[in-house]
Amino acid sequence: MPEKFDVIVVGAGPAGTSCALVCAQKGLNVLLIERGEYPGSKNVMGGVLYRKQMEELIPEFWKEAPLERPVIEQRFWMMDKESVVQFGYKGLEWGVEPYNNFTVLRAQFDQWFAKKAVEAGALLINETVVTECIVENGKVVGIRTDRPNGEVYADVVVLADGVNSLLSKQLGFHKEFRPDEVALTVMEVINLPKEKINDRFNLEDNQGCTIEIFGDSTKGNLGTAFLYTNKDSLNIGVGTTLSSMIKAKLKPYDLLDYLKTHPMVKPMLAGGESAEYLAHLIPEGGYRSVPKVAGNGVVVVGDAAQLVNAIHREGSNMAMHSGLLAAETVIEAKYRGDFSESSLNLYRQKLYDSFIIKDLEKYKDATHTFENNPQYFKEYVPMMNKAMSKFFTVDGTPKRDKQKEIMKSVTSERGTIKVIQDIYRAWKAVK
Ligand SMILES: Cc1cc2nc3c(=O)[nH]c(=O)nc-3n(C[C@H](O)[C@H](O)[C@H](O)COP(=O)(O)OP(=O)(O)OC[C@H]3O[C@@H](n4cnc5c(N)ncnc54)[C@H](O)[C@@H]3O)c2cc1C
Repeated sequence: MPEKFDVIVVGAGPAGTSCALVCAQKGLNVLLIERGEYPGSKNVMGGVLYRKQMEELIPEFWKEAPLERPVIEQRFWMMDKESVVQFGYKGLEWGVEPYNNFTVLRAQFDQWFAKKAVEAGALLINETVVTECIVENGKVVGIRTDRPNGEVYADVVVLADGVNSLLSKQLGFHKEFRPDEVALTVMEVINLPKEKINDRFNLEDNQGCTIEIFGDSTKGNLGTAFLYTNKDSLNIGVGTTLSSMIKAKLKPYDLLDYLKTHPMVKPMLAGGESAEYLAHLIPEGGYRSVPKVAGNGVVVVGDAAQLVNAIHREGSNMAMHSGLLAAETVIEAKYRGDFSESSLNLYRQKLYDSFIIKDLEKYKDATHTFENNPQYFKEYVPMMNKAMSKFFTVDGTPKRDKQKEIMKSVTSERGTIKVIQDIYRAWKAVK
């Protein structure tokens, strides 16, 4: 192993591997360090991987990557105890090139992706924990690992160590996160024959469906559940912010059990066999939680920089794109021979000019608005269900009278002024 690398990347998730791949493609001497037995062995994701940002790194990756199904349908469920109001979009154009997104199993996908970085020239070392950054004269000059004599040096260290990012916390880039800035999600992979999946979700072999479930899936608390189709398994999961969990005294595994036995969900899982059970945090603080992302000799990417758009469940694509932007910055810094904070701050500028910070900024008040106003999930979802039930039940009542009754019950349950305030507040949070 050479004494000094151009770049050390900590963490072989989507953010770190993207950065390592691009740097190695440009001939930089790259070390990629992963604490897991192999890349993906410790990684958890609902499973939707976005084509656009991945294709920027590996054109036509779908021809060889281990993908599950291209997603052709996205459904949204507003679920009550024994009913669901649903909407969504199904389009066959998403089932053919160039595709929109795919379901993936991270244990397989991350391994394949990291292999691409290795083929480009990066050195991957697994089963090695980076314990701290080595700082000399206010500059990060390398890392210390849990291996004997495990000190390695580089011009730049890229922190891609995921949501907890103990390393950027050690550098003072961010504080301990508040419970309302992170969500705890538990999920299960359930094996089910592909014929059953196709029948139950109205799909063909190479077509996938995603369902995001709000309302009773989290017992009315801020959060979401998901049910995604793989080739011959389903990913089902549920999560809420830690603060909601504490407030409502929820236990994540109880919530998942509740979801799996819900009458709207249970038939879709029937006959399936649990293959894996996973739990992970998701950074949900958004725009206001993004920490310092560049310092002397160091940049922070992906979940470690809190780059997740929880409203659109986009995280892997933000991780990949931030990895790409960091790589471009490092390559330019190498050319200038300047790895100071002011030089690496170009990464921050690129990030703020990209869709990543623009999208996080758009939804900067969303999580807190919905957390502080529990009526959206607790009251409106059941109201929508009752309204739909009433409207579609054929009982001889004239339709105009039904509409009046529905409006009356909504405004009497919540009050006209409050309803108007709620609509305005929700619109402001997502506009
Ligand atoms: C349940 C769940 C569902 C999700 N669903 C989706 C989805 O459908 N679509 C989507 O786009 N996003 C989704 N996300 C978010 C997405 O998974 C993350 O945004 C994405 O994985 C971030 O990538 P990353 O590379 O920054 O971090 P990670 O994927 O967390 O990778 C970090 C890597 O660093 C390694 N590491 C950590 N510390 C050290 C250390 N000290 N030394 C060495 N290695 C270290 C870890 O082992 C890991 O491999 C979901 C997340 C969860 C938890």
